[in-house]
Amino acid sequence: MLQSHNPATGELVGEVATTPVSEIDAIVERARAAQVEWDAMGVEARGALLVTACKRLVDRSEDLGKLLTREMGKPLASGIGEVKSCGSSIAADVEGMIAALRPEVVEDKHIRTTQYRDPYGVCAAITPWNFPISMPHWMCLPALMAGNAVVLKPSEETPLIAQAYVDVLNEVLPTGVLQCIHGADDQGKALVAANVDLIAFTGSREVGKKILQSCAGDLKRVVLELGGKDPMLVLDGADLESCGVFAANNSFRNAGQVCVSTERIYVGKSSADAFIRHLCNAAAAKTVGDGMNSETDVGPMISTRQRDHVLEQIDAAIADGATLAHGGQGHHGQFIMPTVLRGVTHDMAIAKEETFGPVACVIEVEDDAEAIRLANDTPFGLGAVVFGPQKAAEAAGRKLRAGMIGVNKSCGGAEGTPWVGAQESGYGFHGGKEGHRQFAQVRLVSTRK
Ligand code: NAD
Repeated sequence: MLQSHNPATGELVGEVATTPVSEIDAIVERARAAQVEWDAMGVEARGALLVTACKRLVDRSEDLGKLLTREMGKPLASGIGEVKSCGSSIAADVEGMIAALRPEVVEDKHIRTTQYRDPYGVCAAITPWNFPISMPHWMCLPALMAGNAVVLKPSEETPLIAQAYVDVLNEVLPTGVLQCIHGADDQGKALVAANVDLIAFTGSREVGKKILQSCAGDLKRVVLELGGKDPMLVLDGADLESCGVFAANNSFRNAGQVCVSTERIYVGKSSADAFIRHLCNAAAAKTVGDGMNSETDVGPMISTRQRDHVLEQIDAAIADGATLAHGGQGHHGQFIMPTVLRGVTHDMAIAKEETFGPVACVIEVEDDAEAIRLANDTPFGLGAVVFGPQKAAEAAGRKLRAGMIGVNKSCGGAEGTPWVGAQESGYGFHGGKEGHRQFAQVRLVSTRK
C-alpha cells in the first residue's frame, strides 16, 4: 500500500493500493480500447461530459480542499481554491479547447487542405505534488478533450487527492477513459516504457531529462513542464516597500514550493538595505503552521527529504558567506521559517539550483545591467519578474530569457495565453491554444480544387 501522511502533523491521512508494475501494460491496453469510442463521440460531446464532471469538483471543493490540505500542507483557503479552479471556469475552458481543435481549411489557387487535429491515442500524465489537483487537471483535461484516453500517475506524495479527482470525473466519464495508477519512480518509468503515445509530464528538470531520454528510442511525443529558478529584478528607482512585499509573497507562497517562486532577487547595492528591511518585515508578518489553521500563511515542507534539501542549501550558503537577515534556523518538524538571506553570490548552490522552499535570496549588484546579466546566466527559464519605473522595467523585461516575464507584477499572462517555460524549464505549454493543440496530431487532407 502507498500511505499518505499529513506533512504538518505526521498523521496517516489514508492509503491507496500501489499499482504493480506488471499490471501497467494491461491498464494501458484498457485505455487504448476505451479511447476508440471516446474519440468517436466528438469533441463537443466530450466537452459536455467534462463540464458536468468538473462542476462536481466545485460542488465538493470544501471536502476535497480539506483532503488536499491534510495531504499536502498548503493553507486550507488555497487548497479549496485549487479544487475550485479545476471547475469554476470549465465551460469557458472547454470552449477554448473546442476552438483550438476545430478543423481548419486552408486554400491556395489549386489546393484545398483541411487541417485536422486528431488524438494521439493513449496519453500518460505524470504529475508532481505541489499543486496536486490542478497539475493532474491541466494535463488530463486537454488530453481528454483532444480525444485521448489518459493514464494518470500522480506524485507518490499526494495520491489521495489525485485519486479523488479521478473518482469524481469517473462518475461521469465512460469506463477506461481516465485511469489512475499509483507508485513512485518505478511506476513512472514503467508507464513511460509502456505502449503510450504521448507523455505529459510536470515535475523536476532531472526527471524530465530522464523521460526524454527514455522516449528517444521510439520517438514518443513528450510535453515537459519543468522546474525553475526564477529571478526578481529590483531596478534602480523601484518602490522598495512594494518590492519587499511582493518578494515575500512570491518567495513564501505554498512554502516556496511553487515552480515560479521568486528564488533569486537582484537589487542595487544602494537600495539593498531598505529593500531587505521591507522584505524582512513582510516575512515576519507570515504565520507558519498547519494549513488547517485559518491564520496560517506558510505550511510545512512536503517531506523530510524536501526540508533537508532546503536546510542544506541554507547552511551551505551561510558557510560560504551569506548572512541570515530573517528566519533560517528555528525550524521544527517539517516547517521552515520564512528565510531571508543576504550576501548571496552568484556561484552559491542556492543561487543556481532549484530550492523549492521558503527562502528569499538577495544578491546585490552594481547596476541594472549586471542584474539582467546574472538573471539570464542560468539553464532554467520558467518565469521572471522585474520591478522599477515602467519604461525601464519593460525594457529590462524584454532582455530576460525566461518564458514568462512579469513587469511590475507576477509572471502569469492574460487569460488564454499559455504557461510556458524556456530553456531547460520547458518543452511545451500548459493551457492556451498552443497548450491544447499539443495533445493532438495534425493531419492534413488535401484535394485539388
Ligand atoms: P519529480 O520530478 O521528482 O516527480 C514528478 C513525478 O514524476 C512524480 O509523479 C514522480 O513519481 C514521477 N517520477 C519520478 N521519477 C520518474 C521517472 N524516472 N520516470 C517517470 N516518472 C518519474 O518532481 P516533484 O518533486 O514531484 O515536483 C516538484 C518539481 O516539479 C519542481 O522541480 C517544480 O519546479 C516542478 N513543477 C513544475 C511546474 C511547471 O509548470 N513548470 C509546475 C509544478 C511543479
